[in-house]
Amino acid sequence: MNLRFLLVTVLALFLTGCSRQAASRSESSQTIPSQIEFALSTICQITLYDWGEPRIYQDIFSRIKEIESRMSLYLEGSELDQINRAAGIEAVRVSADLFEVIERAVHYAELSGGAFDPTVGPLVTLWDIGGDNPRVPTQEEIDAVLPLVNWRNIELNRENQTVFLTQPGMALDLGAIAKGYAGDEAAAIIKKARVPQAIVNLGGNTLAVGEKLDGTPWRVGIQNPLEGRGAYIGIVQTDEISIVTSGLYERYYVADDGTHYHHLILPSSGYPAQSGLLAVSILTDISMDADALSTAVFVLGFDEGRALVESLDGVEAIFVLEDRTVRLTDGINFTLTDDHFTLVID
Ligand code: AMP
Ligand code: MG
Repeated sequence: MNLRFLLVTVLALFLTGCSRQAASRSESSQTIPSQIEFALSTICQITLYDWGEPRIYQDIFSRIKEIESRMSLYLEGSELDQINRAAGIEAVRVSADLFEVIERAVHYAELSGGAFDPTVGPLVTLWDIGGDNPRVPTQEEIDAVLPLVNWRNIELNRENQTVFLTQPGMALDLGAIAKGYAGDEAAAIIKKARVPQAIVNLGGNTLAVGEKLDGTPWRVGIQNPLEGRGAYIGIVQTDEISIVTSGLYERYYVADDGTHYHHLILPSSGYPAQSGLLAVSILTDISMDADALSTAVFVLGFDEGRALVESLDGVEAIFVLEDRTVRLTDGINFTLTDDHFTLVID
């Protein structure tokens, strides 16, 4: 992947005057405008404005990598891996970080009626979309793992900080929520260091830190789900600090017969969710919540997803449907800029 291209496109997504400021600083090499590293299976970019101290980047990335070492399904020996290996055998004591994220994941599983389910691990492994060996499993294979996918079989003990998966073969996958948590933690470090303004972008999970200097709302480009990263369909103006998008374009596999299979799985069927959505962006203050909700709402689809978002305070959403309509919750200020799509206001 071309990192320079990505740097430009990611910066372009936050359409603030500060992006220009960052670019000019980059040219004069007076400060490091942003730093990119690969972690949490994605490209992580931190941009600190008006800040000359590079050490904070190290602090942020070592925190992100610490979170990865605890929460990754793919790192052998991670705390998550230990929980999964002990499925059906014993409870595992975990860090406060991981416990908090699993607790929140269970909350969203319940709230979404199981559309979001952190026990999708066996299905994610079976399909391996975005991994080295993606394939379409047989119905028998799917049927064999479906009984293992059930968030109600996660036992949490807050006092002992332990997690127990009650059935052998169960596996947690926090891929739909951990990046959001890492974003919140990065933002906390940035605030503590009193950096006036920053943008955290963890593979499309974005978080703005600090007030915009001119007091106007943030202007953020919403990704065109039918094109590559960097093309946007419109601009949202928002005071919410986190915007997280789940879209079928993020990871998918094209089978020999040309069928596209994406990475957002309907836990009840074991197949990629056919919810009628191409993408959904969630806007709210806490990135971990935005992340869990983006996945939940994508799987639920427009009607049920919108009802869920509207039942929550301080959460807004932008839906991009397969029929190329764009729909919004009531509190969104969105301007469509791509005439291949149609904005529908109910
Ligand atoms: P996101 O990009 O935040 O929507 O997260 C997508 C990732 O979450 C996938 O790559 C899977 O690892 C995992 N995942 C897929 N389907 C679900 C689901 N229904 N509930 C929870 N996690 C899921
Ligand atoms: Mg998510």
